[in-house]
Amino acid sequence: MKFSDLGLGEDLLRAVTDAGYDTPTPIQAQAIPYVLMNRDLLGCAQTGTGKTASFTLPMIEILAHGRTRARMPRSLILEPTRELAAQVSDQFETYGKYHKLTKALLIGGVSFEEQNKALDRGVDVLIATPGRLLDHAERGKVLLRDVKILVIDEADRMLDMGFMPDVEKIVGLLPQIRQTLFFSATMPPEIRRLSEKFLSNAKEVSVDPPATAAETISQGLIKAAPRDKRRVLRELIKAENVQNALIFCNRKRDVGILHRSLERHGMQAGALHGDMDQYSRTETLEKFKAGEYTILVCSDVAARGLDIASMSHVFNFDVPTHADDYVHRIGRTGRAGKQGRAITIATSEDSRYLDSIAKLIGYPIPPLEGFESAPDEKQDDPAEETGKTEKPRRNRRSRTAKKSSAPARKRQERAPVVEDADTNVALPFGQQEHVPAFLLRK
Ligand code: AMP
Repeated sequence: MKFSDLGLGEDLLRAVTDAGYDTPTPIQAQAIPYVLMNRDLLGCAQTGTGKTASFTLPMIEILAHGRTRARMPRSLILEPTRELAAQVSDQFETYGKYHKLTKALLIGGVSFEEQNKALDRGVDVLIATPGRLLDHAERGKVLLRDVKILVIDEADRMLDMGFMPDVEKIVGLLPQIRQTLFFSATMPPEIRRLSEKFLSNAKEVSVDPPATAAETISQGLIKAAPRDKRRVLRELIKAENVQNALIFCNRKRDVGILHRSLERHGMQAGALHGDMDQYSRTETLEKFKAGEYTILVCSDVAARGLDIASMSHVFNFDVPTHADDYVHRIGRTGRAGKQGRAITIATSEDSRYLDSIAKLIGYPIPPLEGFESAPDEKQDDPAEETGKTEKPRRNRRSRTAKKSSAPARKRQERAPVVEDADTNVALPFGQQEHVPAFLLRK
């Protein structure tokens, strides 16, 4: 099957060739002809399958005819995260280079002013995150009754992130007669119910059973004690031939802690999570893509669907609590036929999460081979972990002394007191590490 068999026009085929693609991926081959027929579509496909082009290409073809009006976009694409929205926008740029379509990106964290200006000029393609779009709609800055094509992308993620009520509100502002394309990586019953609500007489296409790990990714599992994880991670980074890596943490706060710790150990690392403002997110991502950072510590939200070419490694600093997230995380490497490594650090507490991952991917994550963690010479500073600073040792000692029981106090009082050579602190005999030489002499 070739792109020219799908019914796309000459200009689009040229743009696809310029982008370096010659064969459509399975989701593209299945979806594009139906979208061109103006049919509704239910696509079950993960990121990495080429699904974005499966809707951007036929949309450009359909929208090539017709005119736009101020504040009345002709098509709307809803994305769960700002990064995904920006990536879709980039694809319109790539494939629409021989067309004169206008587009606007409405995402949170950036000023309304520029977005208003773009809307006033009139847009053919509006790409938005649900919250920011509703803000504009409520201020009367955008009218959605001219939307002919609606795309709901990453629907399962929208549901996880609690965006579905906003999506339903937005769909309520759209005309009843329209074409709707609905994509989701997984099809739990709630997603199916929503798809039935939004779609009519849809063609269903599905590629790769959802949530399977690509064969181009070699996976490994290593066990570590919780307070040893950062050291093990550093050793892994040194032992593996890391060109660029994403390191996933389960909590935003741990992203910051791990990021600072890696920097302190001289690594060129950036951090990305949902609480950062848009400017910092974009800047960090650009630096990572340009190779200025080798390592990006991130949360699931920030990294979902990130398309960064040739990612050599993914590390799970924490085992994800949702098995789906495991597949999404490791899917950031081993893309487009390239080999990738995905290494997970687990503690003894993680066994039930590891079990559900094994159930989902059909086998347990294999133990990492050929890596031996060095004996624990120096524990990481536990203060790093909690974000608190430790109390000076001297105070701790006096606190312990205060708490000690009466007989223990008596024992200490009876013990001969010697001077600790290093600290000059008086310690009861038997508690100091080094016995001064004169005490050992006969
Ligand atoms: P997506 O699933 O849309 O996130 O796309 C994943 C990656 O596949 C992106 O880097 C696309 O540029 C790339 N891609 C899209 N279509 C093709 C194709 N027909 N052949 C090879 N790579 C493609």
